[in-house]
Amino acid sequence: MEKKAIDWANLGFGYMKTDKRFVSNYVNGAWDDGILTEDDTVTISECACVLQYAQTCFEGLKAYTTEDGHIVTFRPDLNAERMENTAKRLEMPVFPKERFVDAVSQTVKANAAYVPPYGSGATLYIRPYMFGSNAVIGVKPAEEYQFRVFTTPVGPYFKGGAKPITIKISDFDRAAPHGTGHIKAGLNYAMSLHAIVTAHKEGYDENMYLDAATRTKVEETGGANFIFVTKDNKVVTPKSNSILPSITRRSLMTVAKDYLGLEVEEREVYLEEVKDFAECGLCGTAAVISPVGKIVDHGKEICLPSGMNEMGPITKKLYDTLTGIQMGHIEAPEGWIHVIE
Ligand SMILES: *Cc1c(COP(=O)(O)O)cnc(C)c1O
Repeated sequence: MEKKAIDWANLGFGYMKTDKRFVSNYVNGAWDDGILTEDDTVTISECACVLQYAQTCFEGLKAYTTEDGHIVTFRPDLNAERMENTAKRLEMPVFPKERFVDAVSQTVKANAAYVPPYGSGATLYIRPYMFGSNAVIGVKPAEEYQFRVFTTPVGPYFKGGAKPITIKISDFDRAAPHGTGHIKAGLNYAMSLHAIVTAHKEGYDENMYLDAATRTKVEETGGANFIFVTKDNKVVTPKSNSILPSITRRSLMTVAKDYLGLEVEEREVYLEEVKDFAECGLCGTAAVISPVGKIVDHGKEICLPSGMNEMGPITKKLYDTLTGIQMGHIEAPEGWIHVIE
């Protein structure tokens, strides 16, 4: 298959229309078979539940080319499971797990010409999503839904090496206790936009959100989970019911324990103890890990000992091992790599 003439190394993180997308409609209590279509537009009622009451959710994962030339995705079953949990919390119908994985595979296959070649650092970003599509004016869940999957090629996250970032403790909250922080709902992002625009205006790369109830414990950023490394090389990640369970973070904790033989802990992490950690990173599909060099708490700077020039040594090992597993240099745990073709 001939690849598209794209300058892979210089792609950014933006939307580029690809050839095909998957669409399935939920009508009269059932999902239809779904189709791959060239139509990249959505036509819905002006009163669609998604437009009035934000009944929408999404997932994000990547397809890429391994060293031996296969197009693969990483743990898509976990994205399917997470979307199932999200849908239930938003009173949306579940798109069955096997069908989710199949729809992702079909869409990637149909856009294989856009899957960046091995070694380019670029990937094909996959966006499954679902929304309430029929007219709803009195507040209630929609009766009709659309599930879609599109893909778009995205460039290497770190151009010229991963530079540690500076983040601030946000004065805004991301998620309430017993709210929707643990699901991948569009609404969590709508309300985070003001906080991230504010942080950027002040010169910070990201926000660290604290738990809304006590504002003493670390939660996550707008779109990535935290991992910390203690001075005696323990890998710690915050535990909370209002954190979105990142697949990257869960995979990194397994890598830390089973591949690097490190002690791992998922527990409450107090802001007070952050100054004692040796390394800090943000975990998500896009970057795998972004190293954090500095955390600013209302003018008070916490400078991680790993510094502002490079990833900390344990963070780097975690990053290299997980990306090695993804690219096929290191043997993956059973079921982690889903071969598409
Ligand atoms: C998607 C997301 C993440 C990262 O999850 P991955 O599965 O690793 O991509 C972290 N936090 C939030 C709030 C998210 O929406």
